[in-house]
Amino acid sequence: MRKKIVAGNWKMNKTQEEALILASEVVNMVKDEVSTDVTVVIGSPYLYLSTLQKHVEPVSNMGVAAQNCHQKASGAYTGEISAPMLKSIGIGYVILGHSERRQYFGETNEQLAEKVNIALENGLTPIFCCGESLDQRNAAGYLELVASQLTESLFHLSAEEFGKVVIAYEPIWAIGTGVTASSAQAQEMHAFLRQHIAAKYGETVADDTSILYGGSCNEKNAPELFACADIDGGLIGGASLKSREFVNIAKSF
Ligand code: PEP
Repeated sequence: MRKKIVAGNWKMNKTQEEALILASEVVNMVKDEVSTDVTVVIGSPYLYLSTLQKHVEPVSNMGVAAQNCHQKASGAYTGEISAPMLKSIGIGYVILGHSERRQYFGETNEQLAEKVNIALENGLTPIFCCGESLDQRNAAGYLELVASQLTESLFHLSAEEFGKVVIAYEPIWAIGTGVTASSAQAQEMHAFLRQHIAAKYGETVADDTSILYGGSCNEKNAPELFACADIDGGLIGGASLKSREFVNIAKSF
């Protein structure tokens, strides 16, 4: 049975004080209100990961995610953070290949393959983001284009390794724009990606892979999106900055 997951991506938002208030509110609400078969993850700036991890640790269905990591274990890479460092403070998840990282920091499918490797070697669960731009969606072959992001960054993994990866489909045209993919558009892509995974790794691995939707997901549209057969939760940007709304999304299954 694949996991239901709602992961927040705070991006570069919140001072320390604000981050602690938001996290405490989310932790308390998750404990009281969210079914334990839903995993709730907070994707925080690096600075607060250690503190948030301690906060979240006692809650069995919660985890903390870094928003990136470097592809090397250590070395002369000023300003970077490595997967072994994340492991050393008990972090369980790392968001990799977010479209903002691809767009502003030039991350490529090839580099992301290396990041996925080092994340898995260090026991981190990669939340691997993929998705197409509006121009790509309006051209033929957008389904295959997104599938090729999986092929190029993930399909070198063994079935056992692949089974540890969470996929997040995030159409770039829906991120932070207020325009959500319709549930039919999201379901079409999720089903296509699941078939693509099945063709490589078989039905069982594909059935067990959690594929999250991300892109202007909020408490109003989450119930319809999460009711789709191949949508297993969400990667939530803007709406994860408001505790009540974020937790309501986690209650939308
Ligand atoms: C994201 O950046 O991963 C995201 C889904 O953002 P938003 O929910 O704000 O569109």
